[in-house]
Amino acid sequence: MPKITSVEGRILFNSRGSKTIEVDIVSDNRFLGRVCSPSGASVGKYEAVSFPNENPEDSLKILKQNSQKFIGLESSDLKAIHDTLRSLDNSNNYSIIGGSLAFAVTIASMESASKALEQPLFKTLSTDSEFKFPIPIGNILGGGAHAGPGTPDIQEILICATGAKTIEDAIETNLAVHKELRKVLQKQDPSFTNGRGDEGGWAPKLENLKALEVSAKACENLGFTLGKEVALGVDFASSTQWNEGKGKYLYDRAGFENSTGEQIDFAADIIDKFKLIYAEDAVHEEAFEDMAELAAKFPNTLVTGDDLTVTSKDILTKAIKVKACNAAILKVNQAGSLYDALEFANVANQNNVKLITSHRSGESTDSQISHIGIATGSKMLKVGVVGGERIAKLNELLRLSGHDFICGMAEI
Ligand code: PEP
Ligand code: MG
Repeated sequence: MPKITSVEGRILFNSRGSKTIEVDIVSDNRFLGRVCSPSGASVGKYEAVSFPNENPEDSLKILKQNSQKFIGLESSDLKAIHDTLRSLDNSNNYSIIGGSLAFAVTIASMESASKALEQPLFKTLSTDSEFKFPIPIGNILGGGAHAGPGTPDIQEILICATGAKTIEDAIETNLAVHKELRKVLQKQDPSFTNGRGDEGGWAPKLENLKALEVSAKACENLGFTLGKEVALGVDFASSTQWNEGKGKYLYDRAGFENSTGEQIDFAADIIDKFKLIYAEDAVHEEAFEDMAELAAKFPNTLVTGDDLTVTSKDILTKAIKVKACNAAILKVNQAGSLYDALEFANVANQNNVKLITSHRSGESTDSQISHIGIATGSKMLKVGVVGGERIAKLNELLRLSGHDFICGMAEI
C-alpha cells in the first residue's frame, strides 16, 4: 500500500481572486496528489470555517509545523489521515486548523493513493463495482450573493438536461441553453453587458420572476419542453434574504418582504409555474418545518438542503427526522475533511436523501469533486456551465466517459 513520503502546502488564489491553500501529498516519493481549496460567498451558519482567523497563512503554518505527522501513513487510509487532522483540531467546525486545510489534505492524499494504485479517484473512494454519472446541473443566471445590484435576489437559476442519455449530451445541452439565454437577454435589453456572476451564470438587471421567465424562454427557443428534455432549478439561498430581527425575508432588490408563510407560497408558486426539478434552500437555514412543508408538497422536485444541512451528518439526521428535504448538497469543505463528507453521504444514501455534489462560488481549476460525485452515487453534480474553473469539472466527466466501471446516467 502506498505511503506518504512528503507533505507541502502553499498559498494560491481562487476564482474570486481570494487567497486559499493548496496542498501537495506525495506517496512513495513519486505519486502526487494536489488539491486547492474552494470557498463560498453564501456560507451556512454551521459549516466548517475556511481558515483560523480567516487567514490562509495560519492554516499553512499549522500544516508546516505538523507535516511530519502524516509521513509514513498509508495515503489510501482516509480514516488515518482524518484522525491525524482531528488530533490537531477536535473542534466541531475546524476552527483551529481551518476546514480548507482538512479538505485539501484528505482529498490530496486520496488522489495520491489513486495514482499509486493506478485507478481513478472515484474507485479509491468507493467499494462499489458499478457507477453512474451524476447529471450536471449548472448556473445560467446569477443573483444574490453571487452578483451585483439590479440582479435577482435569488442566487441561482440552474439548467439540468434531465432527458440526456449521455454525459456528452447533458453537458452540450446545458451549454446550448446558457448560450441561448445570452441571446434572449441581449434581445430584451440591447444594453446588456454580457456580465456574469461568480459561477458563470449571466447577471442581468432583472427581478426574480422575469429572470425565471427569460430562462424558460431560452429553453423553449431551443425546442425544449420544461420538465422533459431539460428542467430548471433554483437555489433560493434564502438565508441571504432572511432577517432574524424582523422575522422576514427581505427582497431588497425587487422591493418586497415575505413573512415565513409568504416565503413558502413564493417558493411553491415558482416550483409550480416553472416545473422546477430542483429547489435549494427555499427557506432559511434553520426553518426545518417550513422546508418539510415544501418537501411534502413537491415529492417530484428535489427539495434540497444546502445551508440547511451543511454536509453535516448530525444536521442531516435532524432534517431526516422531520422530513425537511428529499435531497441534500454535498460540499466537502462545508464538512471539512473528505472523511466527514463521506459519512454524510452514507447517511443520505441510507435514508433515500438524494445527493447533489457541489462546487463553491470561489473555486479552483481542480476536478476531484467530479470523482466525489460519482463515488457517492450523487444524482446531480452542481458545478456550473461555463468558466475555466467550472468547465474543468465537466471536462473531467468527459474524460471518464467510456470508463469500464461507469454505466450510464444517474436516475433522479
Ligand atoms: C451555493 O450556495 O450553493 C453555492 C455554491 O454558493 P457558495 O459557494 O457561495 O455557498
Ligand atoms: Mg446553495
